[in-house]
Amino acid sequence: MLMTSSLFEKELAVAVDAVRRASSLCARVQAEIAGSVLEKKDRSPVTVADFGSQAVVCRALRDAFPDDAVVAEEASAALKEPDARPLLDRVVSVVSDVHPGVTAQQVCEWIDIGGGEVGASRHWTLDPIDGTKGFLRGEQYAVALALIVDGEVVVGVLGCPNLSVHEGATEQGVMLAAIKGLGVQAMPLSASEGPTPVKSSAQALPEYARFCESVESGHTDHSEAAQVARVLGISGSSVRLDSQAKYAVVARGEADIYMRLPTRPGYVEKIWDHAAGSLVVTEAGGRVTDIHGADLDFSKGRGLVANAGVIATNGPLHDAVLAALAEVGVGR
Ligand code: AMP
Ligand code: MG
Repeated sequence: MLMTSSLFEKELAVAVDAVRRASSLCARVQAEIAGSVLEKKDRSPVTVADFGSQAVVCRALRDAFPDDAVVAEEASAALKEPDARPLLDRVVSVVSDVHPGVTAQQVCEWIDIGGGEVGASRHWTLDPIDGTKGFLRGEQYAVALALIVDGEVVVGVLGCPNLSVHEGATEQGVMLAAIKGLGVQAMPLSASEGPTPVKSSAQALPEYARFCESVESGHTDHSEAAQVARVLGISGSSVRLDSQAKYAVVARGEADIYMRLPTRPGYVEKIWDHAAGSLVVTEAGGRVTDIHGADLDFSKGRGLVANAGVIATNGPLHDAVLAALAEVGVGR
């Protein structure tokens, strides 16, 4: 295992560097909107950061691994519409902080590197900004990048610009980076300190568990999760946060359970919403399955078509959570 995994050290280094640059780009855009009175419907800041982040990461992947497919959330078509020119100019401006002199055409080309097919045995998957609603609220979001080989996630990197460097630290901005079989490390986005190993909690008593879930009620069933928590004997309320930052807090042992319960039958989770986060949690000692206890199946294309919802835990609590989900009848 160790021999095979160390093959991915270059991939991890490239991914860490790309996610760091993209996270800083996003943080700069978010800082500009903080404090400004934003029209509620103006989603353009997150659009700019989203495309900018995707351009920066895709360009880095193409330079280092020209043969690899990249499956990313965005495509440049919308940016090429004539009336989108002001938006495109803003994207070019944020990308030029990282790549001075870049042109609009290059930016669109880099974004579209992310239009790769899942078919290849090896492909990357990128969510350039996961948690766009959190980004707009000034709260949590993540840049999430993973490498999938033969249907298995082997490298996962999460950049979380608004998550504290350690629990309780005042400095914000952390990255979690994992290689399958080799564990996961956390490092400040600022590179102010070196990497430190990440370990999920040892909590085995469900009644003391801390659980987290999405802020958005459209993304997870809050009321069913509350019922599951009651069955487990949890008296505290959930911590709600956007994006794969939830996987990061479970990996770091700041929460013990993350429940993502389907709000409607037929919603298919996207691979870029879970690939990096799920590896980060399992490499920290935790467990990740769907609500029925099945492993997440990343071999089926852009969606987790074989799965329903997601449950991530510290490990020791996983079976108790699955039993509680069955008792409540989640997914039936
Ligand atoms: P979160 O920040 O954890 O609430 O999740 C954000 C992600 O939820 C987005 O990246 C979307 O891809 C995804 N999403 C959108 N609609 C749904 C839905 N109905 N159920 C679950 N996830 C969704
Ligand atoms: Mg997402």
